[in-house]
Amino acid sequence: LCHTPHESKLCSTNQNHHQLIFSPSQPRSALETLNLDGYFSYKNNAHASRDFGNRFFFRPAAVLHPKSVSDIASTVKHVYEMGAGTVAARGHGHSLQGQAQADGGVVINMESLIRPRRGGGDGGGRYVDVSGGELWIDVLKETVKHGLTPKSWTDYLHLTVGGTLSNGGISGQAFRHGPQISNVQQLEVVTGTGEVVTCSEKQNAELFFSVLGGLGQFGVITRARIALEPAPNMVKWIRVLYSDFSQFSSDQEHLISLEESFDYIEGFVIINRTGLLNNWRSSFHPKDPVQASQFVSDGKTLYCLEVAKYFSIQDDNTETVDMQIQGLLSNLHFIPSTLFISEVSYVGFLDRVHVAEMKLREQGLWEVPHPWLSLLIPGSKMAQFASEVFGSIVTDSSNGPILIYPLNQSKWNNIKRTSLVTPREDVIYHVSFLASAVPFSTGEDGLDYILARNQRILDFSSGAGIVLKQYLPHYTTQEDWKAHFGSKWEVFLKRKLTYDPLAILAPGHRIFKRQY
Ligand code: FAD
Repeated sequence: LCHTPHESKLCSTNQNHHQLIFSPSQPRSALETLNLDGYFSYKNNAHASRDFGNRFFFRPAAVLHPKSVSDIASTVKHVYEMGAGTVAARGHGHSLQGQAQADGGVVINMESLIRPRRGGGDGGGRYVDVSGGELWIDVLKETVKHGLTPKSWTDYLHLTVGGTLSNGGISGQAFRHGPQISNVQQLEVVTGTGEVVTCSEKQNAELFFSVLGGLGQFGVITRARIALEPAPNMVKWIRVLYSDFSQFSSDQEHLISLEESFDYIEGFVIINRTGLLNNWRSSFHPKDPVQASQFVSDGKTLYCLEVAKYFSIQDDNTETVDMQIQGLLSNLHFIPSTLFISEVSYVGFLDRVHVAEMKLREQGLWEVPHPWLSLLIPGSKMAQFASEVFGSIVTDSSNGPILIYPLNQSKWNNIKRTSLVTPREDVIYHVSFLASAVPFSTGEDGLDYILARNQRILDFSSGAGIVLKQYLPHYTTQEDWKAHFGSKWEVFLKRKLTYDPLAILAPGHRIFKRQY
């Protein structure tokens, strides 16, 4: 792999990786020579050394608050030429293990880069151009004013466009539209040499596909052209329960295979929860209230299928929508007494996790350690995985939701050309253990216990020959990164050498070491 001295340097990232940092006096004097529209801050930068994971804290030397793309370009160019230092774009800081941090380097506060949103349309359909630092919730609120909406989402919208496009952006719409990285028409990127490049499938395609799912390694996304479709305004949101995993997963796979199906398909696992259906009543209506009130969830492992049908109150006949839903549900095998339905606005549905966030914040439970484990699992191995993991490794789901839903990659656009790594089969499952740890607890709700549980899940999978891929990956050695990328590693390395030859960008992933 490492043919030239240059390549071998990039390859030599080691386990106890230390970034080459600015010398203490260097950053301020060096960076202040730059002529910027925005500014650098050198103090009170605590927010840039933390993230949602609340486990990794690396202090930057400076934070750039850019007001223009040229601020970002000249900063990256300067660090490139300076012979030391690294640069991390920080979106909304909702990484889990310091991925948007730069130990002793420069963090770019992407949310400062405010650019006018521009809508348009061409042969590729309607689109909106937005800044890489825009929150998806703001993109949604703006586009629905024009009767339009992006097609593919994440479950939580208080994340930036650049942040999710650097990972993938997977949620309940991806079975149909692909992840968010399949729904981008064009990007503007500042590469690791400080060059500003516009790229798309047809123009500078190699850079375009490198950056999508590229973990911030190849450039800073300063603008993204997001594909749009007509927006609905209402949603029928449905939950049903299964006690049998094979029935649950075969119904999920059936639904994602249909041409006419729900618009959103997800699911989650519930283990040993008291009064589950009673809790749902605050936001959902049981189809059969009497039967539902008698349902006992305690001590059981249950699988919840969660689906949604979008509609427009002006253009659609609600009776027809109800009949379509009825038709789809009639072919499923859930426990009849557990059918719950709710009707909410489209924006309210997409922004649903924010409601939970507000409640958790009130209780001081949002800013706790989040030892999340997010996996993409080959469909053919899912039953084996579920049997062991939900049968014996995970005995309780009270630490946080466990999401589980299938996706069909054969319907995804150009995904193989992006940097996202997924298992090889067409049908894969996204399984996420979204745990919150109780600070300083040494029990089953504590960080160490949850991390050990995550490791047991990974160890079981590798021992059982389940070749899964981590989504939102985190590794500490380059050997592990190579194994993660598998056959894509050579391409990934070549792209790094082309677009960020000194390995300046996104040091928090610890894939490469800064060269000089
Ligand atoms: P940051 O954490 O700030 O950055 C993430 C990475 O991207 C870093 O490496 C950073 O350097 C890089 N980066 C940031 N901005 C740019 C840019 N403009 N250009 C280049 N690189 C950049 N993911 C899903 O796919 N589906 C979900 O449903 C989902 N739900 C989530 C719910 C919650 C509550 C949380 C906390 C996370 C969720 N995620 C989900 C994961 C999320 O997509 C990633 O953590 C994402 O990186 C967060 O975006 P951010 O703006 O906070 O990025």
